[in-house]
Amino acid sequence: MRQSEILFKTQKTYPKDEVAVNAQLLIKANFVNKLMAGVYSFLPLGFRVRSKIISIIREEMNSLGASEILMPSLHPKSAWEKSGRWEGLSKIMYQFQDHSGRDVGLGVTHEEIVALIAQGIIDSYADLPKYVYQIQAKFRDEPRAKSGILRGREFTMKDMYSFHTDEKSLDDFYEETKKAYQRVFERCGLKSYITEASGGDFSKNYSHEFMVETEAGEDETYLCRLCGFARNKEIADFRKDENCPKCGSGVLEKVKTVEVGNIFKLGTKYSEAADLNFKNNEGHLKPVVMGSYGIGVERLMGTAVEVHNDKNGIIWPEEIAPFKVHLLSVGEDKEDLQKFAEAVYNEFEKSGLEVLFDDRKKMSAGEKFYDADLVGLPFRVVVSEKMLVQDKIEVKKRSEKESRVLKVKDFIKEISK
Ligand SMILES: [Zn+2]
Repeated sequence: MRQSEILFKTQKTYPKDEVAVNAQLLIKANFVNKLMAGVYSFLPLGFRVRSKIISIIREEMNSLGASEILMPSLHPKSAWEKSGRWEGLSKIMYQFQDHSGRDVGLGVTHEEIVALIAQGIIDSYADLPKYVYQIQAKFRDEPRAKSGILRGREFTMKDMYSFHTDEKSLDDFYEETKKAYQRVFERCGLKSYITEASGGDFSKNYSHEFMVETEAGEDETYLCRLCGFARNKEIADFRKDENCPKCGSGVLEKVKTVEVGNIFKLGTKYSEAADLNFKNNEGHLKPVVMGSYGIGVERLMGTAVEVHNDKNGIIWPEEIAPFKVHLLSVGEDKEDLQKFAEAVYNEFEKSGLEVLFDDRKKMSAGEKFYDADLVGLPFRVVVSEKMLVQDKIEVKKRSEKESRVLKVKDFIKEISK
């Protein structure tokens, strides 16, 4: 893609009204645009990152045998009354009356809605288990939205729901989902720790959170780096420097973390509220056993930025970078240099490389280098007069200091491995 053709311009300064590193970098580098606190637009580069994260999530959820659906954001009050959450979530749920006086709300989650849908479809044990997920907008009336895209008032969520005949079936799926979640976070360049958590608003039953260590985190977690044991501060009260209860030899550290995912064993709370029952093999009517599983898409993106950056900008993990290569044509606008840059660009495109070509005119080398560091694509490739003479390109990894001079073909071969 040609940089001159997309809606793109980096900001000269960091936004004054943002304190979070993720928002500062993403706004300055032109990935997102802030409409109001906690509400952001995704510009071409930001949209590509978000799409890549969604693709990873989709692949991993599909690998669990789950099928994708889409539920609405606008819900009638009646759907939320039986579970008691119209009242219970009234502080964080946008609830209002439409012009006809109907009480409606914008979904913060979808347990009630999906249970109503399943109620019309699931009749017998032969219909179970079933797993569905959606990737969809959620709304949350955050009193303070100061964490950039980590905590939005409108955000995208992957929420998955599972339906089972019994606890054993739920347990099996729950464990498989844990593994799939860890694959998602790893592919997004993040090391996650699984912590046991209290159920919060959702459930008094068992639940787990997936934590990523970063100073930007609003949660505190005790963790053992030796064996990966982790526990939420709110349900654990360890002494400082206490040994790890799992491996015995590691020391527990209290660190700040962001919760990038959570999973809940819901039991039968929502199935009972929605009359979601099935006939077991003896013909008795039983409530369906449910689980729910969430990942915040923008939160994941924001966490990746919080974890992977330096004083010059973002350093995108490869699999979620908007493009793999940033091709910079630097130097005077001479015809032979332009031709060379175009030829390199075409070669990259032809080989299927995802490349952002900084072909902007009347821009100094310094400005282009500055923007490239800020945007943070994994590889920077420079084409200049000096390279033209050698018929080579200068390649630098964003995460490294040294650059190398290579033949175009050799670089393509190396990067396509
Ligand atoms: Zn340990």
